[in-house]
Amino acid sequence: MSSSMKEALEVYKRLWAIRYASGLLSWDLETYMPKSAAADRGEVFGQLSVISQDLTLRLSPLVERLEKEVNDDVSRGNLRVIRRDLAFYTKVPPSLLQDISKVTSEATVTWRDARQKSDFKKFLPYLNRIVELNKELAEKLGYEGSPYNALLDLYEEGVRTDDIDAVFSYLIPNSKRILEKTRAPSSSRFETMEYSPSDLEKVNREVLQMIGMPWDRFRIDVSTHPFTVGLSVNDVRITTRYEGKDFKQTIFSTIHESGHAIYELGLDPSLQGQPVGTAVSSGIHESQSRFWENIIGRSRQMTEKIYEILRKHLTFVGDSSPSEIYDYFNIVRPSLIRVDADELTYNFHIFVRYTLEKQLIEGKIDASDVPSMWDDLIEKNLGVRPKNDTEGCLQDIHWSNGSFGYFPTYTLGNVVAGTLWASAPWLYDSVAEADFHRIKTYLGEKIHRLGSIYPPKELLRRSFGKEYYPRDLVRYLEQKYL
Ligand code: MG
Repeated sequence: MSSSMKEALEVYKRLWAIRYASGLLSWDLETYMPKSAAADRGEVFGQLSVISQDLTLRLSPLVERLEKEVNDDVSRGNLRVIRRDLAFYTKVPPSLLQDISKVTSEATVTWRDARQKSDFKKFLPYLNRIVELNKELAEKLGYEGSPYNALLDLYEEGVRTDDIDAVFSYLIPNSKRILEKTRAPSSSRFETMEYSPSDLEKVNREVLQMIGMPWDRFRIDVSTHPFTVGLSVNDVRITTRYEGKDFKQTIFSTIHESGHAIYELGLDPSLQGQPVGTAVSSGIHESQSRFWENIIGRSRQMTEKIYEILRKHLTFVGDSSPSEIYDYFNIVRPSLIRVDADELTYNFHIFVRYTLEKQLIEGKIDASDVPSMWDDLIEKNLGVRPKNDTEGCLQDIHWSNGSFGYFPTYTLGNVVAGTLWASAPWLYDSVAEADFHRIKTYLGEKIHRLGSIYPPKELLRRSFGKEYYPRDLVRYLEQKYL
C-alpha cells in the first residue's frame, strides 16, 4: 500500500470512530435516552459533524498523489469514496449545512404537530423554506439535466431521474394490471385480533433464531419507528415495535430490519474503517430488507415455518391453518398510508412522492400545490382518496427532515430485491429446508462483503449482469399474485 493511502486510511479510521459513536448515540436517542437530554444530544451531533468535516478536508492534499497510486479495485473504490466525501464538503458551504440543520430540526417539531392536527398551512412555510434550501444545495453540488439529480446522487450514487422514470414507466402500469386481476385476499380476521407484546417478543426471537441472526454481534430493542444501526461488523442494532394488534406487522418489521442488519454484518471485515467499508447506497440497503421481508418472509415456505412458531405462542392461531396465515401475510388492499402498504401497492405511494418532490425541486410546482396534487395522484393511482392531510401529504417525516431524493430509493430497493429473486431459482428450496446460511452466503458474495468498492450500478452489473431492472420484480409479482 502506498504511503498516501496509508495516510488517508488513518484519517478514515478516525472518521469511522466518529460515525460509530454517532451511530450509538442515535440508537440511544431512539431507545433509552431520557427525554430532557434531547437538546444536549443535538449539540453533540452538531459538534461531531464539524469534526468529521474538518477531518474529511484533511484528505484534500492527498487526492492528487492517490490518483497516481491506485492500482486495484479496493484502492480505486477508496479514492472514489474519498472524492465524493470531499466534493460534498468543498462544494457545500458550512453556512448552508447549518441552515438546513436548523430549519429541519424546527420543521420536524412543527410537522409532528401539523400532522396530528391535519393542518398543512402550519407546515407550509417550512416546506417552502426546505424546498428552497434543497434547490440551493443542488446548485452548489452541481448537476446535469434536472437539479433533482444532484439530490438523488446523495442517496444513490450515479442514479438520475432518467433511471427512475424508466423504472416507474414499466413498474406502474404492470403493477396496475396485476392489481386489477389478482385474487389475493383484501382482509383477514387476524388484523384486529389483540396480542400480548411478550408473546410476540418470543415469536420474533424464534424467527431471528431460525434465520441464524448472531446474538453475539447484534441486538434487538423497541422503538416508535423501527430502524437499524450498523456500528461495526461486530455490533449491529435493530428495533421493532409492538402495537398490540395485527401481529404480522411486528414480525415483518423485525424481518425487514434483520435484512438491513445482515447486510451490515456481512461486510468483509478487512474493509472495516476504510472509505469503501460501508453499505453502498440507500437503494441497495433497502433491497436487502425487502428481500427478507417480502420475498422470503411472506413466501409459502417461510409462512409454514413461522406458523409452527406462532402456534407455540399465540393461542388464537391454534384453530387456523398455514394457508390462512399465508393469506393474512399477503393481503392486498389499496390504502392511504405508505408504511402499511402491501408489496403490490407500495410502489404507487413512492411514485406519487417522487413525482411531487421532483417537480418541487425543478420549480414546476409550488409547495402550496402539494395537498391537492397529492390527493389527486393517490386517487388516480390507487382509487382511494385521503379525507385529510394526515392521511395524505403530512404522513411522512422525510420532507420535514430535508430528505429530497430519498423516496425513490425505496422502489429501487424493491426492484433490486426482484433481481435477487430472479437470480436464485433455488431460493424457496433453501427456505423450505431452513437453509438460511446458503441465502446469506449468496447475498454476501453478490453484495454484502463488497461494501462500496463499486458504485451501485457497477455492483449490480458485476453481480447480476444488469442494473435497476424492474422486469424481475414484475415477474415475481405476477408469479405470486396472478
Ligand atoms: Mg428499510
